[in-house]
Amino acid sequence: MDEAWTGVGKTDVGRVRSANEDAYGVHPREGVFVVADGMGGHAAGEVASRLAVDAVEEALLDGSDDDAADMVAESLRRANDRIRRSAEENPAREGMGTTATILRVLPDDTGIVLGQVGDSRAYRLREGSLERLTRDQTWVQRQVDAGLLEAGEAEGHPYSNILVQALGLETEIEPEVVESEAEAGDLYLLCTDGLNAVLSDDDIRDALAGSGDDLEDAAALLVRRANEEGGPDNVTVVLARPAAP
Ligand code: CA
Repeated sequence: MDEAWTGVGKTDVGRVRSANEDAYGVHPREGVFVVADGMGGHAAGEVASRLAVDAVEEALLDGSDDDAADMVAESLRRANDRIRRSAEENPAREGMGTTATILRVLPDDTGIVLGQVGDSRAYRLREGSLERLTRDQTWVQRQVDAGLLEAGEAEGHPYSNILVQALGLETEIEPEVVESEAEAGDLYLLCTDGLNAVLSDDDIRDALAGSGDDLEDAAALLVRRANEEGGPDNVTVVLARPAAP
């Protein structure tokens, strides 16, 4: 793979928080993109999200021939182990955790693998339509899936930040891993909830569709829009797309 994809990342502390606990990684050449949203006191959230991105990068950037989907799941397990070890060695970090959402380009460029733990998101913009490719691993989403809550009631629900799982909290995790085909012209967005908690999917689509071809401009616009909506949380966006043929 020779620069088959392009990508950018941008993170911002927002307008309310004093520290940024998000982290991201952008590796177009290797086809690896990741966002992580850390949580925990005493700056431990920053440590957890950084450890997760580092572990994912180490596992996925070496060009291993192992099955791409297996490696994405394995990278999340390694991240989980690393965060737990760090917390054991440093009591101030006890209870730290993080989300992680990974986009891995398949070696033959025919598609992508998405890996997910937590409630960060992946979206795809294709021919003007925005589709959410991940399902939030939250209590609220589980209630929606079970038919106990309407999708409309989930927006802004008081329990919307309760995660079903995150990296660092339990010995075992169950990463959600899905494969998807990719087409020239697709635009992929990974984001932390600092974006999608304040912007609707339609808002996100409008920002992406209206910002032209420059990924830096598009990422900057999304962050600016989140801050215009009050910027209540750290906001991180990663944009990636197949290079034009
Ligand atoms: Ca967040």
